[in-house]
Amino acid sequence: MPIPEWVPIREDLRGFEPYGAPQMTDVICLNVNENPYSPSAVVAADIAESVRDVATGLNRYPDREATELRAALAEYLGHDLGSEQVWAANGSNEVMLQILQAFGGPGRSALSFAPTYSMYPEYARDTNTDWVTGQRDEDFTVDVDRAVSLINAVQPEVVFLASPNNPTGTVMPFDTIRAVLAAAPGVVVIDEAYAEFCREGTPSALELLADNPRLLVSRTMSKAFALAGARLGYVAADKAIIDALRIVRLPYHLSAVTQAVALAALRHSDELLATVDELRATRDELVTWFEAQGIETAATDANFVLFGQFADRHAIWQGLVDRGVLIRETGPQGWLRVSVGTRAEMEAFYRALQEVLGR
Ligand SMILES: *Cc1c(COP(=O)(O)O)cnc(C)c1O
Repeated sequence: MPIPEWVPIREDLRGFEPYGAPQMTDVICLNVNENPYSPSAVVAADIAESVRDVATGLNRYPDREATELRAALAEYLGHDLGSEQVWAANGSNEVMLQILQAFGGPGRSALSFAPTYSMYPEYARDTNTDWVTGQRDEDFTVDVDRAVSLINAVQPEVVFLASPNNPTGTVMPFDTIRAVLAAAPGVVVIDEAYAEFCREGTPSALELLADNPRLLVSRTMSKAFALAGARLGYVAADKAIIDALRIVRLPYHLSAVTQAVALAALRHSDELLATVDELRATRDELVTWFEAQGIETAATDANFVLFGQFADRHAIWQGLVDRGVLIRETGPQGWLRVSVGTRAEMEAFYRALQEVLGR
């Protein structure tokens, strides 16, 4: 439904639809890169108890600075980070919006390299920030020389680099990140939403924080941490950058309930992250399966695989939905993205896809 004429919405927002992947029930959900394993009964009980404890104080506003939570997140991240170098919000999507509120805006620009996370341009639009995209190579890596010349030409205040990238799964090498940091006049955000799923030995951009005050590394509890429903994202950066984000945050943006849930989950981080090894193994099996089927995949360090290419990808997507498996129609034309589920869910996906392909 388009917004009716009489609604005085901003002209530049007219004609847009609210963004989001289809949400369906009674299907196997392999479409939004969630962790398929729900928190255990023990973790759930601790979360529930923590919420009960704060419930008696809900007449009061929450800790505006989320001090305890930021300290716990800093400890989880390691790298000698202090709580004043970490900021948290309702999902890393809110962090991203705050970054554009603080560093973007009218007359300013933000830049990324497509195909990449489809939310970045939405937040640029919402904050009246010009949005510029460079193109990734055939193999979905970013060419350093072309990236640097684009940054030199555009002089963006914000650069977003997802690593591993969504929807391709591509990790960005340190050399590329360093070159972007050297060329970019503003802040550089490495979106590490999928960092925990990286293959052994893949370094985190957190290692670069100490030497690069304009670097921000964002993380989330939505993916590896199996906590998408709680909405908790966070970012690590220089204290002065965090202080800039604190200027634009809504007062009391992070509810006492959210803070309590995230703190409880962090107490059980080992247990919540225990499924990551299994998901990485299942991902590698999935890639091998695609290879055996003669289906092309993009090299992935995340909990999803981009596969293709299909003349009519929508027909494949629909065929899978008709068989009770929901994946994501996203990425470049001809490609589809499937999240890594449980082994049983992957078996169902294999059967459904083979049927759809008439095999
Ligand atoms: C899923 C995802 C996020 C996480 O978003 P939340 O708001 O934390 O749930 C961030 N960046 C990318 C690239 C993602 O795919």
